Amino acid sequence: MKPRLLQHGRLLSSLEAAIAAEFDVHPLWKEADPQAFLARHGSEFSGLVTSARVGADAALIEALPALKVIASFGVGYETLDLESARRRGVVVSNTPDVLNDCVADLAFGLLIDVARGISAADRFVRRGDWERGIFPLTTRVSGKRLGILGLGRIGQTIARRSAGFEMDVRYHSRRPVPDVPWTYEASAASLAEWADFLVVACAGGAATRHLVSAEVLQSLGPDGFLINIARGSVVDERALVSALSERRIAGAALDVFENEPQVPQELLALDNVVLLPHIASGTRETRQAMADLVLANLRSYFTKGRLETPIA
Ligand code: NAP
Repeated sequence: MKPRLLQHGRLLSSLEAAIAAEFDVHPLWKEADPQAFLARHGSEFSGLVTSARVGADAALIEALPALKVIASFGVGYETLDLESARRRGVVVSNTPDVLNDCVADLAFGLLIDVARGISAADRFVRRGDWERGIFPLTTRVSGKRLGILGLGRIGQTIARRSAGFEMDVRYHSRRPVPDVPWTYEASAASLAEWADFLVVACAGGAATRHLVSAEVLQSLGPDGFLINIARGSVVDERALVSALSERRIAGAALDVFENEPQVPQELLALDNVVLLPHIASGTRETRQAMADLVLANLRSYFTKGRLETPIA
């Protein structure tokens, strides 16, 4: 008998096909009345497969009394109610590490774009403005100060990328990371004060909500740039819009927003802002590696009783 899995939200189509080949999977997202379905069939499922975007809340976990394992596509887990899972003895996996390179690559792409005005210059050429004048001078990247908020797997990959640009690196997280060559700053504000570029790479969720506050943006100052590839919730978006509109910081490059896919209207008109639709891990190679890891976790759990990449 194949284990019975519930699928919450759409997944990469190759992953949906691979899961369907090995498991007895039911797509909850196809149900017109998910609550009624769960009330009738919730006790049939031993596994739940979901994503960082969709997650699994306490109500869903409660509606699945035979649940043993949750496999999530993505590394962030603020949308998963880990406390409910732990209380029920349900083990949970995510997809760490396989996306570090692509997210770090994009962070650097954003950093260079906002400093050198790549997207703005592209718009300048397309508008025909080059025939009327020259593009304004921009800001040098090489040799500058890079502040990383959250020196985890992705933060450290970004820090290593910076060696090629001969940047000086400091970081802040709740505690210093042992055995790294980069200097620890005791607060987000002191990191911002020091940095030319502040890159947000910490976890999302309640604990980091608005960690990048009006005060931190003030510390970053009129020559400082903010780059966010973590979660929109980490930045106080209203404070960011004010700081950008009033030119109290030099610019911002954002892959993530507080209420995706809503982007603050005020940002659309600003040329010193780069806006992306949450694509940092979105390459074919990395998304496939994430899908492979979701499948590996499910296989490992149902054959060996343990996950490959459990969330600690
Ligand atoms: P990770 O290895 O767990 O690193 C998370 C970092 O955040 C750690 O350095 C942690 O350090 C720090 N942190 C946690 N709470 C903090 C707090 N209250 N104050 C300051 N720092 C704090 O995770 P990762 O794999 O690098 O991923 C980082 C995040 O990137 C994910 O959680 C996800 O939200 C985001 N992400 C975004 C995309 C995208 O498409 N844009 C793709 C992948 C990941 P301490 O515990 O010492 O504080």
